[in-house]
Amino acid sequence: MKLTIAHLYPDLLNLYGDRGNIQCFVKRLEWRGLEAKVLPILSGDSIDFSKVDIVLLGGGSDREQELVCGYLQDIKIKFKQYVEDGGVVLAVCGGYQLLGHYYKSKKEKIEGLGILDITTEWKPKRLIRNIILHSPLFETPVVGFENHGGRTLIHKQTPFGKVFFGLGNTGRSGYEGCIYKNVIGTYLHGPLLPKNPEVCDYLLKKALERKYGERIVLTELDDTLEQKANQVMVKRYQDKKYVLTETIKRYT
Ligand code: GLN
Repeated sequence: MKLTIAHLYPDLLNLYGDRGNIQCFVKRLEWRGLEAKVLPILSGDSIDFSKVDIVLLGGGSDREQELVCGYLQDIKIKFKQYVEDGGVVLAVCGGYQLLGHYYKSKKEKIEGLGILDITTEWKPKRLIRNIILHSPLFETPVVGFENHGGRTLIHKQTPFGKVFFGLGNTGRSGYEGCIYKNVIGTYLHGPLLPKNPEVCDYLLKKALERKYGERIVLTELDDTLEQKANQVMVKRYQDKKYVLTETIKRYT
């Protein structure tokens, strides 16, 4: 079995090691004897979604998002069809914002793909900190790092998780990210997947099941080290929920 992972615009959307998510997809496939092909799609390149099983959109600065916006508009219809057909997407921070209707940055309104029914607006205080979520999809808490000026309203869409510690979509809603079909949009850098192997396997399973049309049971891997790292973060913040309350007061 083989998956093709398209990394969209790594020349522009490349903040905080988000490309580590690609490495994680590749390694966790290879460790199970499965094949992985990485397809970097540079700005201006065309993309054939029929040959793609997973898409990664990383984070970017407002300036880079402005540039990417034009390229995304060119592939908007095909991208939407891919998502509606169950295509797997992981979109982080700037990439997450661009899956929505728009991101109103300090300078201008950047048009998004309209794949998720979400909207984002910039505010002067950046939301920067480690973050921990509880997601109904995963047994282990999801850990990461957030750094964004945008506040994202997810309207009626389902959040990725409930914020246990950190700020999330708006700093006040108590929720982080958004899930729709096989798309996860999130503010979590880190990169997300090496810190949260359960999330990586969830996406790999979805992609394999879509491609091969059968129920997939992934071989268990030894995630002792990953789990230890996750627990360090959870323990560090479990007694600090009061800080969160103070922070929310300051950011709202
Ligand atoms: N430019 C966006 C913001 O500040 C996204 C930043 C990012 O991808 N880290 O909200």
